[in-house]
Amino acid sequence: MDKKNIDWANLGFGYVETDKRYVCEFKDGAWDEGGLVDNGMITMSECACVLQYAQTCFEGLKAYTTEDGKIVTFRPDMNALRLQDSARGLCMPELPVEKFLEAVDQVVAANAAYVPPYGSGASLYLRPFLYGKNAVIGVKPATEYEFRVFCTPVGPYFKGGVKPLTIRVSDVDRAAPHGTGHIKAGLNYAMSLKNIVDAHDAGYDENMYVDPQTRTKVEETGGANFIFVTKDGKLVTPKSGSILPSITRRSLMYVAEHYLGLEVEEREVYLDELKDMAEAGLCGTAAVISPVGKIVNHGEEICLPSGMEAMGPVTQKLYDTLTGIQMGRIEAPEGWVRVIVDNK
Ligand SMILES: *Cc1c(COP(=O)(O)O)cnc(C)c1O
Repeated sequence: MDKKNIDWANLGFGYVETDKRYVCEFKDGAWDEGGLVDNGMITMSECACVLQYAQTCFEGLKAYTTEDGKIVTFRPDMNALRLQDSARGLCMPELPVEKFLEAVDQVVAANAAYVPPYGSGASLYLRPFLYGKNAVIGVKPATEYEFRVFCTPVGPYFKGGVKPLTIRVSDVDRAAPHGTGHIKAGLNYAMSLKNIVDAHDAGYDENMYVDPQTRTKVEETGGANFIFVTKDGKLVTPKSGSILPSITRRSLMYVAEHYLGLEVEEREVYLDELKDMAEAGLCGTAAVISPVGKIVNHGEEICLPSGMEAMGPVTQKLYDTLTGIQMGRIEAPEGWVRVIVDNK
């Protein structure tokens, strides 16, 4: 198969249209067969539930070329299950896990020419999503839904080397206690846009959201979970019912314990503790881990000892191990890597 003529190393994180996408419709209480289509445009009623009441949720995952030339995805079953959780939270029908996996496989295989080669640092980003499609004017869930998966090649996250982030403790809340923070709903992003634009204008890379009830505990950023390394070498991640359960973060916790022999804790993390941390990072599919160098809490500057030039040593080990597993250089735990195209 010939690859597309794309400058992989200089690709950014923008939408590049590919050849095929998968569409499956829910109507009269059932999912249809579903399949690949060419058309990347959607036509729907101006009164569609998604447009009026934001009834939509999504997923994000990547396909990679491994060292031995296979095209794989990383733990797509976890994305399938999380999409089901999100669907339940928004009164949408659950898509069967098998259908999700089949959709992702088909989109990757049909767009294999867009999967960046091994070693380029680039990958094929997949965006599965589900939305209420029929006209709804009284406030109630739609009765017809579309599930769609498209993909777009994305460049290496750290172009020209890793740059630790500077983040601020936010005065705006991302998710209410007992709200929708734990599901991957588009509405969680809609309300974060103003605050991220404001953070960038003020010179920060990201917002650190805290628990709205006491404003003393760390939650997450707009689109990534936190991990911290304590000075005695433990990996700690905040625990809260309004954090979106990152698959990257959960995988890193497993890798820390089972590959690196670290002690791992998921517990409440207080703002007061941040000054005692050795390393901090943001985790999500896009970057795996972005190191945090500085946290600004209203005038108080907390500079992580790992500094502003590189990842801390434990963060680096976690990053190398997880990306090694994804790229096929390190043996993966059972079921973590799904082979879609085996070029051997
Ligand atoms: C998607 C997302 C993450 C990261 O999850 P991954 O499964 O690791 O990509 C973290 N926080 C929020 C709010 C998210 O929407």
